[in-house]
Amino acid sequence: LAGIKHYVQIGCLGHGTFGIVIKALDLRSDPPTEVAIKLLPRGDFVKNYQLYVRREIQNQSSLRHPLIVSLREVFLTPTHLAIAMEYAQGGDLFNYTLGHRPHGRLAEQQARWIFQQLIIGLDYSHRRGVANRDLKLENLLLDRDGRDGTRPLLKICDFGYSKHEQNSSAKTGVGTPVYMAPEVILGESKYDAKKADIWSCGVILYAMLYGKYPFDAKEARFARKIVTADYKLLPEVEVSMDCLDILTRVLVASPGDRMSMDEIKTHAWFLKGLPPGA
Ligand code: ADP
Ligand code: MG
Ligand code: MG
Repeated sequence: LAGIKHYVQIGCLGHGTFGIVIKALDLRSDPPTEVAIKLLPRGDFVKNYQLYVRREIQNQSSLRHPLIVSLREVFLTPTHLAIAMEYAQGGDLFNYTLGHRPHGRLAEQQARWIFQQLIIGLDYSHRRGVANRDLKLENLLLDRDGRDGTRPLLKICDFGYSKHEQNSSAKTGVGTPVYMAPEVILGESKYDAKKADIWSCGVILYAMLYGKYPFDAKEARFARKIVTADYKLLPEVEVSMDCLDILTRVLVASPGDRMSMDEIKTHAWFLKGLPPGA
């Protein structure tokens, strides 16, 4: 962080598609505040991806919600464009699930707590006109470790592919293949990015419950399996009927038949254990 005197780097949090994310201390407060800073190389990179970088900053800063990572400030270093944001000390959900041995999965109640927060945070974002388009385990952070059975707060991050509805409906298929909705895989000329986000929530729920993805990118006919919603429930993992009901109604190939945000929010499984008025 050459030249930026009030920040000192104290660690590395992750390598993303385009840059790195470091952990730093903001020395302007006493005690210093822990922050995460995403560093994007300046020059050609930022020029080539200007549209996405601008959307990431604009869309994320327009969202102020406890379940969405908040932006603190954006500044330039001699070499990078730096996006300073709230630090989530529990790390990302991939590490917490699939990246974690031996099971790589969560108990149903824990998965529900994460899913409830994901839906509430996403609903807020959708109401503000912003679709995320890159929802996945790596982009869901936790404010602290909750493996002891406590309930960490979820923080949705990475608005790098996000889109505001005022910018015409989505045309480009962006995201990560395993999480992409059938209509995105099919390259449909105008898909509803909010409905595609809901599909990704289904993939995330499946992965949390079963410790694996519903669609395996290494298998033959991977794309075909997504577009026909051809996935298997695992009988060896015990999951309640209510939970399977919501899962199988979210992972529906046709966007028009897929559960809507309002249907999810009023489903019996979703409402369980949720504080009233949440
Ligand atoms: P990319 O667009 O390159 O995927 P992300 O914003 O998703 O970048 O960040 C990459 C990784 O860095 C995340 O998956 C997460 O592990 C870590 N990370 C990002 N932001 C934070 C944060 N605010 N607090 C803690 N870890 C973070
Ligand atoms: Mg990411
Ligand atoms: Mg990104």
